[in-house]
Amino acid sequence: MNDLRNIVILTGAGISAESGLATFRGPDGLWEGHRVEDVCTPEALARDAGLVHRFYDERRAKLAEVAPNAAHEALAALDAAWPGDLLIVTQNVDDLHERAGARRLIHMHGELKSALCAACGKAIGWVDPLPPASLCDGCGKPRLRPDIVFFGEMPYEMEAIDAAIRDADLFVSIGTSGAVYPAAGFVQTARHVGARTLELNLDPSAGSFYFDETRLGPASELVPAMVRELLV
Ligand code: NAD
Ligand code: ZN
Repeated sequence: MNDLRNIVILTGAGISAESGLATFRGPDGLWEGHRVEDVCTPEALARDAGLVHRFYDERRAKLAEVAPNAAHEALAALDAAWPGDLLIVTQNVDDLHERAGARRLIHMHGELKSALCAACGKAIGWVDPLPPASLCDGCGKPRLRPDIVFFGEMPYEMEAIDAAIRDADLFVSIGTSGAVYPAAGFVQTARHVGARTLELNLDPSAGSFYFDETRLGPASELVPAMVRELLV
């Protein structure tokens, strides 16, 4: 892989599974006991803000009990050492990539440790529980909500992500089921511009068909091995 310069890496819930965070679709099809329509949609927030806020309060509190694993550490080491362009695009709302030390990182689906003002759009760093109707320190309105991109909302930084993929020589997808768009379509853009495409996942994903190569196994083993190959 020594003719590569620009890399885009997409990560999903699978990279944080070995840290002890539940993936999105467990065997029962629920995320931590909830149907996604009940906690991850604008309609759910409008219908029962208390439930949605409590759900994300629990996920935020759980971050204190977990730590980055070998896969997050390996990507942070690659970020630090890679001389070309590199962008880690995560669908995860946890903070494990940054706690491992990754710097070139976009949280396309938002962050647990942020609150978003639905009135003025200000994002505010947040570590405590977030009661519904908390006051925004920008506009003063009682409109703070979890800074999470719900189903039906526009992911963050799509232009920057698209530009990075269009410049990429290598696109890697790690621990994602390939079921949630637009992230699931990134591999097709990467192929279109002639990038090499590599998938690392525990199980074959809905989009495995699009990748030049799929390696199956736990992220804590596959990701450090890939980083060793890239940094030789
Ligand atoms: P998903 O649950 O749909 O898919 C997880 C994928 O990871 C599966 O393909 C599974 O085979 C794979 N996997 C499981 N354990 C693995 C391991 N140890 N090593 C490698 N792969 C493993 O998750 P997704 O595709 O990220 O779904 C997208 C949505 O899930 C996003 O919107 C994201 O915000 C949300 N989500 C985030 C978190 C988090 O922040 N930690 C947790 C759950 C869900
Ligand atoms: Zn505000």
